[in-house]
Amino acid sequence: MTTELERKNMFDNEAGSMLVNELRETFGSGKTRNYDWKVSQLKQLFKLLNFHEEEIIDALRNDIDKPPLETVAYEVGMLKNSCKTALKELKHWMAPEKVKTSITTFPSSAEIVSEPFGVVLVISAWNYPFLLSLDPVIGAIAAGNAVVLKPSEIAPATSSLLAKLLGEYMDNSSIRVVEGAVDETSALLQQKWDKIFYTGNGRVARIVMAAAAKHLTPVVLELGGKSPVVVDSNINLQVAARRIIAGKWGCNNGQACISPDYIITTKDYAPKLVDALKTELEQFYGKNPLESKDLSRIVNSNHFDRLIRLLDDDKVSGKIVHGGEKDKSKLRISPTVLLDVPRDSLIMSEEIFGPLLPIITVDKLDESFDVINSAPKPLAAYIFTNNNKLKEQFVKTVSAGGLVINDTTIHLAVHTLPFGGVGESGVGAYHGKFSFDAFSHKKAVLYRSFFGDASIRYPPYTSTKTRLMKALMGGGFLAIIRALFGKS
Ligand code: NAD
Repeated sequence: MTTELERKNMFDNEAGSMLVNELRETFGSGKTRNYDWKVSQLKQLFKLLNFHEEEIIDALRNDIDKPPLETVAYEVGMLKNSCKTALKELKHWMAPEKVKTSITTFPSSAEIVSEPFGVVLVISAWNYPFLLSLDPVIGAIAAGNAVVLKPSEIAPATSSLLAKLLGEYMDNSSIRVVEGAVDETSALLQQKWDKIFYTGNGRVARIVMAAAAKHLTPVVLELGGKSPVVVDSNINLQVAARRIIAGKWGCNNGQACISPDYIITTKDYAPKLVDALKTELEQFYGKNPLESKDLSRIVNSNHFDRLIRLLDDDKVSGKIVHGGEKDKSKLRISPTVLLDVPRDSLIMSEEIFGPLLPIITVDKLDESFDVINSAPKPLAAYIFTNNNKLKEQFVKTVSAGGLVINDTTIHLAVHTLPFGGVGESGVGAYHGKFSFDAFSHKKAVLYRSFFGDASIRYPPYTSTKTRLMKALMGGGFLAIIRALFGKS
């Protein structure tokens, strides 16, 4: 039974409404639009990351047994870089962008002014719980919004650490954390936000988008998908195998949105690729990978059971060529490679999001592009090849959030590239300036003076005015001269 105290602490619709009103008041005061405020908050965030790295490592150890190196590099390190980039570029990002005007508005000047949306909601996922929570928050702050962060309940240690640290370090009149699960998120989604930034799966994305639609709230949806890796022959196979492993098992043991989901290679080349993967996997994780400290565990028993179901499917259970060991008590599954899986198997019908890597074989490598394009658009797609024509064809024909040639996942670290999906893998993008833009309305501003007031736009509308208007709207300089002299 819920006690009175618990009831009071519950985050319901009423609490959500009070919170949004409070933040709206702060936003209305203009505080968050101020350059100095933004800088102070970004610096505080940087300090938080600097002073609490050990606690962050511990929280991620608790939540998912994430190896410290992965936390230091892909959560804390990436966030520090995002803070540094924002601090360095902020003035430049905030400056109005001068743009050309046209003859129809002559004389005039124009600019695009970035303004914050207002009060925004960030809902984040469990797999990179620090990065996925704070990276959008950096964009929201840089753009001048008040922001509520809802971390994932599936990573509870990180969620409570985020609530504690943001409470201590950030300006709580405009930056807040709400912890909780479906009930709390639903209460948040009932409120009117000025932007919602959601990271997670496509099913919940549809709930988020439906809630946003009620208020015509714009959304960014950072989702996932089945990110393929095409592997050509005549490549440096050892380097390719290592980079596939780093992107798959070295990113949270495959529980990453841009982890390689499956490989496509030719029938002839597949055995060589499998051998290379086996050799490098043993080199990295030893003979007993279930004991390796360098692999995250599966986040919880639901996900563990889901992954085992994929392996137990009759269509693939005989296809394991490496790994397949599991320990439910420790939520561990070893790096597992499956060869020649049928395309209608369970493992090929959903995002794997775990340490299983199926290989599909084709007769000719260029068939792989049709395989990829016949599925929903993935968040990332990779190819390993030395063939320039194939690279060109890949870039031209494969539609995905992002592409990498001869590596996996590292495009994420390039802040000059937008990070986001297309189709089923998401809506909108962020990172670097794209984060600032994701949280800014681009306001069109046209400046005129009282000089040069042409009567052509005012009634009475004469045939000369109509001719001249036609020429002005589309005819170019000569057409305008002709119209002025009465020639149409
Ligand atoms: P999750 O379970 O942590 O859920 C994400 C958020 O949705 C949480 O904050 C949760 O509280 C909320 N939520 C869950 N059910 C809800 C409901 N019924 N109503 C409202 N809110 C609800 O994370 P997940 O979805 O398991 O995350 C994994 C997925 O996210 C994968 O598909 C992965 O590819 C994708 N992902 C994408 C990115 C990216 O940057 N594009 C990054 C990480 C993960």
